[in-house]
Formats: sequence, C-alpha cells, structure tokens
Amino acid sequence: MLTQLERRGIRDTRVLEAMRKVKRHHFVDPAFRDRAYDDTPLPIDEGQTISQPYVVARMTSLLELQPSDKVLEIGTGSGYQAAIIAELAHKVFSIERHMSLLQKARKALDEQAYTNVVLKQGDGTIGWAEFAPFDKIIITAAAPKFPKTLFSQLKDQGLMIFPMGEMRMQELVLIQRNGEEAIMKEVGQVSFVPLVGREGWANNTV
Ligand code: SAM
Repeated sequence: MLTQLERRGIRDTRVLEAMRKVKRHHFVDPAFRDRAYDDTPLPIDEGQTISQPYVVARMTSLLELQPSDKVLEIGTGSGYQAAIIAELAHKVFSIERHMSLLQKARKALDEQAYTNVVLKQGDGTIGWAEFAPFDKIIITAAAPKFPKTLFSQLKDQGLMIFPMGEMRMQELVLIQRNGEEAIMKEVGQVSFVPLVGREGWANNTV
C-alpha cells in the first residue's frame, strides 16, 4: 500500500509513517478483511464506507498536522481516519451521526489504545462548540455547500478540508482561515457519501 501511495505522490514522511503504522484491517468489516490493504473504499454498516487509503493520506497531508494540533473530524465512520490523525496530532474530536458506527469505531480505537480520540454521536454540521476553536477540521462526507458553522469553529490561520458538491463526484476543497475570510483552493476530485444534517443534505434527498 505504501508503495502505491508514494507512487501517487504522497511525499509527507510523517503521513506515510502513520499509514504504515495504523493497520486498516482493524477498522474494516470482517467480510472485507482480505481487501483491507487494497487502495479502495470498502463498505461499512449503515450503507457508509471506509475511505480509500490514498484519499485518507492526501487529505491528511494537506492538513499539515502538527503534534500540538486539536482536530475536529466530521464522519467518524470506521474510525480509521481518526486513528491516522491521532498519530500526528495532539487530540482528535470526531462526530458520527450513526450510533452503531460510533460504537464499532470506539471499540476498534480502544483496542488499538488510542486515548487521544474523543467521539460523540450527533450532527457534525453544527460542529462541537464546547471544544472549539480547532486548529484543523476535516469533513469526510460530501457537503452540499460551504460549511459556515464549522468554519466559525476553525482557529485563525487554521486549515479545513472537505469534499463539496453533488452526489457522485465532488471537488476536494482546502480552506485557510484568514480572519473572517476563507482562502479557498480546489485540490482535486473525490467521491464521498453525503454529509447529512442541518447544514448538509436533507435526509430525504439521499
Ligand atoms: N472517516 C471515515 C473512516 O475513516 O472510516 C469515513 C467516513 S464515511 C466516508 C462518512 C461518514 O460520515 C459516515 O459514517 C456517515 O454516517 C457520516 N456522516 C454523514 N453526515 C454526518 C453528519 N452530519 N454528522 C456526522 N457524521 C456524518
């Protein structure tokens, strides 16, 4: 898997080391465990997916994580992305809307002894005001529009990354907060499941 990632342009050695260290098979459904190291998304419960390793590595490296960073993730899913961030940052706060996924993710993270990942069930589009502001924010589901509340919970000069757009393909957007201004860069095309919630897609449209 690492060779594939390097071949596809992931150069950040800290990210590559985290991708080597975190064993993806711990986060994959037993039925798909033989494909855990394929560079592909795989189904998890509730019709959701564990993201493709390349996309995890790319989004992580674009966040330029620092050991002191407090990071908010929206869309815990399997907990795999949270574990990768936990290797590189101080603390991860991650929100998942499906309780069943959250419970499985908690179990997998506990088994791997990740003590710096805090999880909660809820609508991540409204963020986690109690622990804001965050140095970095990552949304691992596709937002229909600019996530205003999450932006308001980002530190000045902080970075936020998220897919934005329609159901099948989205643009991966990297934002740097500069005061009240969002400096926005499009960094490629991705395909994520929808972000469902108050500032996401309505549940009945997906
Ligand atoms: N980061 C995950 C991983 O490493 O396995 C993959 C996430 S999966 C592509 C997207 C997740 O976002 C799904 O588990 C979905 O239930 C969740 N989700 C969608 N809308 C959400 C919302 N408003 N708040 C929290 N989680 C949400």
